[in-house]
Amino acid sequence: EAKKAGRNQIHMFNKDLQEKADRYLAVYNGLSKAIANEELSLHYQPQIDLLTKRVHGVEALLRWTSRELGPVSPGEFIPVAEDTGLILAIGDWVLSAAVHQAKYWVDRGYKNFVVSVNISAQQLRDPQFAMKVIDLLQTARLPARNLCLEITESTAILDLDTSQRLCRELTDLGITLAMDDFGVGYSSLSMLNSLPLHYLKIDRSLVTNIAVSQRDSAVVGTIIELSRNLDMKVVAEGIETTEQLRILEQLGCHEAQGYLCGRPMPADDLTRFLEGK
Ligand code: C2E
Ligand code: MG
Ligand code: MG
Ligand code: MG
Repeated sequence: EAKKAGRNQIHMFNKDLQEKADRYLAVYNGLSKAIANEELSLHYQPQIDLLTKRVHGVEALLRWTSRELGPVSPGEFIPVAEDTGLILAIGDWVLSAAVHQAKYWVDRGYKNFVVSVNISAQQLRDPQFAMKVIDLLQTARLPARNLCLEITESTAILDLDTSQRLCRELTDLGITLAMDDFGVGYSSLSMLNSLPLHYLKIDRSLVTNIAVSQRDSAVVGTIIELSRNLDMKVVAEGIETTEQLRILEQLGCHEAQGYLCGRPMPADDLTRFLEGK
């Protein structure tokens, strides 16, 4: 009996692994054709300046609707893209699409509008990265101040010397830099000090319980204070309730991003959003 149960367990374990491996492969295969098949698009989520109550800019968020698999979430396909190196081609596509879209909004009169783009570690390790960005800005004729690049703590920590040099190069051009998902994973204060960052984006996991947990609001308050001392601004991610927003305003948070202020949406919807619907 025990032997039989054990065999069943192994069987189930193998089946589970097999399903995961099949799915991974299907995502990889689909993703490697996604650019050519024109299955990628960008959605844009508003970021609100809490002082002026105006839309300061948007974060570009990648969407993939596969012919074979239907919509696949970034939480699933971005890690596959990063593991397999596909993120380099996909990242180029994202940057180019976002920069051209930013140019559209700037030309429409939103002169100080900033479009933020998520950048993966591998992209930053590409020695051509800064050159690519410069070329792209020139081709699209977009001022550097209308572009913000979001990097993550793990990205920067990989090789602090290299990221330091690259970040300096980018900010010298006039590009804005944000540290994404701040407060989860490695939060090294020396890293904050050595990178020329303009924004810290407080991770949603720290914002979620801000209205019910004194400790969480204390942590967020401390991050805001720290950022102020280091001449940075804070964007709070994942704000869903007016209560969360009220507390963040009290704590002196500079910008808000979350479903409460606007969901990620296609470019045309965002244009309507800017024009007051
Ligand atoms: P992220 O950069 O931290 O982006 C914020 C995520 O939070 C987005 O998820 C957004 O839709 C979600 N979000 C915003 N407000 C709320 C809210 O109020 N409640 C909840 N529950 N969620 C909210 P999304 O679009 O699924 O993207 C997930 C992650 O995938 C991103 O996290 C980013 O790390 C990565 N990603 C997305 N697009 C790209 C891309 O073009 N390149 C790279 N390298 N990574 C990307
Ligand atoms: Mg981001
Ligand atoms: Mg992120
Ligand atoms: Mg984030």
